[in-house]
Amino acid sequence: MQKPSFHVLLLQQEFGPFRRTFHLTLLSDSQHGLTLIDTGLPGAEMQILDFIQQLGHDTSDLKAIVLTHSDIDHAGSARALQDLTGAQVWAGLEEKPQLEGTLPPLRTPPAHLLAQLPAELALQLGRGSVPVQVNRTLSEGEVLPGGWKVIFTPGHTPGHLSVFHPDTGVLVAGDAVMVKEGRAVFPDNSMDVAQATHSLSRLAGLDVQHLIAHHGGEVSGGNVLDAWSSPERVKNRGVPGCPDTALK
Ligand SMILES: [Zn+2]
Repeated sequence: MQKPSFHVLLLQQEFGPFRRTFHLTLLSDSQHGLTLIDTGLPGAEMQILDFIQQLGHDTSDLKAIVLTHSDIDHAGSARALQDLTGAQVWAGLEEKPQLEGTLPPLRTPPAHLLAQLPAELALQLGRGSVPVQVNRTLSEGEVLPGGWKVIFTPGHTPGHLSVFHPDTGVLVAGDAVMVKEGRAVFPDNSMDVAQATHSLSRLAGLDVQHLIAHHGGEVSGGNVLDAWSSPERVKNRGVPGCPDTALK
């Protein structure tokens, strides 16, 4: 069994009157170095590099950044990290145009939220994420350094992907699953609820022993996603409210 080494950074970011907490996962592999999954909103790069150094690594050990999807709270600091460390950015083909800025963002925060922010910040968020060059596109089932596997989990967005370690059941779910009050819940703000339902029941079939969700953090023990193991069970637990923030 290949034991994964990973660390979760609890990233706190403020923008205007709002404060958000995100959970970024750093995978460590003795041969390949460090792979970061998701990057937070723009401006998180120094917190992320400090975290890497606190773990005893050099910032140049960061070799790859995997983006689960193109939302600004996942891709926002990828460009800055790419510039500062030379790390490659890897993502699914489907949202490459949004990540690179050749197509408009899939969504932007609602106007009433933007109205509460300083003008410059509102303008930035309204444009979507900071464009970043995608150096490698990832395919379903592809194996990343350390034995982590790419699993496409569309629904929250059309090109959303998750990363799973089959030997130990560790799942980095991005926004395919969220955690609230210590429990795995259906993702807020899914662009396609039926797809998100299918993706979640697929993940539930993997026997996830440890879950890391970008929003809400970690849950472990038993089959964490058992309650979501079929579309019927997902339906019976109620389909998600769709809160009005696009920053989920
Ligand atoms: Zn998202």
